[in-house]
Amino acid sequence: MGFVRKYIRCPHCGFTNYATSIYCVRCNLKIKLDYSSIKKSFAFLITAFVFYIPANIYPILQSNKFFESYTNTIISGIFELWSDGDYPIAIIVFLASVLIPILKFIILFYLNISIKSCKYLKIKRRLYKFIEISGPWSLLDVFVVFILSALIHFQYVSVIPKSAALYFLLMVIFTILSAMSFDERLIGVNCE
Ligand SMILES: [Zn+2]
Repeated sequence: MGFVRKYIRCPHCGFTNYATSIYCVRCNLKIKLDYSSIKKSFAFLITAFVFYIPANIYPILQSNKFFESYTNTIISGIFELWSDGDYPIAIIVFLASVLIPILKFIILFYLNISIKSCKYLKIKRRLYKFIEISGPWSLLDVFVVFILSALIHFQYVSVIPKSAALYFLLMVIFTILSAMSFDERLIGVNCE
């Protein structure tokens, strides 16, 4: 601590400016660091996590077959797929709707709480890259769950999304907002 970063890359054009610059010398756009972004990112992350709880508790799908109808939560759906022998699909749904979202929560939580720490800067920048790259694909999680469930239950007359689908969608959106509002230039900003 106590060291001040001398240079900073312009997020718009990549030009190397003095860290104290507010506007880029080359493109004239604003490059000032936004410290409030961490608070925003953290608030969005907590919101995403809160939505993830009902997304798992409430049923995500209702399957109707003539006079029979039953509902599945994300977890019970995965167990059902597995016990039916649909292993690859059970694994894909598990990855898209359980493992990857939880991994993102952990990474974003870690990046947020360790923003002032000068340890593991390279790892932290790589973790953020992973979040940044996977961000737009997150919405696919929702579609993967739906499409696969629909395909699996083709023998049923209809498959209706239930409340947990909405919570899951909100969780995905708030995770993206959290990643977007995180200013990665703050990683190691006072360390060099
Ligand atoms: Zn620039």
